[in-house]
Amino acid sequence: MKTTKKFKVLGPVATQFGAATTGNWRLERPQVDFSRCTKCRTCELHCPTNVMEIKKDQEECVVINFDYCKGCGICTNVCPVQCISLVEERR
Ligand code: SF4
Ligand code: SF4
Repeated sequence: MKTTKKFKVLGPVATQFGAATTGNWRLERPQVDFSRCTKCRTCELHCPTNVMEIKKDQEECVVINFDYCKGCGICTNVCPVQCISLVEERR
C-alpha cells in the first residue's frame, strides 16, 4: 500500500500539531533541576511532541515549549539522573 507522509511522525503517541495548543491539556508540568542536568539530551530525544531543546551554553539548559507540552511525563521517566519532576499545573 502506498502512503504519503505529510508530517514527521515522532513516535507512537503524538505529533506536534500547529493548529491547537495542546499544552492546554496539561494537568502537570515538567520541572527541571538545572543544577543536576548533564545535558545528555535523552529527554529531548524521547519527548513524543518534540518540544524539548537542550541549550548546552545556557544555565537553564532545558527549554520546553509549554504551548505544546502535554505533561505526559515521559521525560521524567527517561532522564538518567532523574532531574525532571512533574509538578501540579497552576492556572
Ligand atoms: S512532559 Fe516531557 S515528554 Fe511529555 S510532552 Fe512535556 S516535555 Fe515532552
Ligand atoms: S535527560 Fe535529564 S540529564 Fe539528560 S538533558 Fe534531559 S534533563 Fe538533562
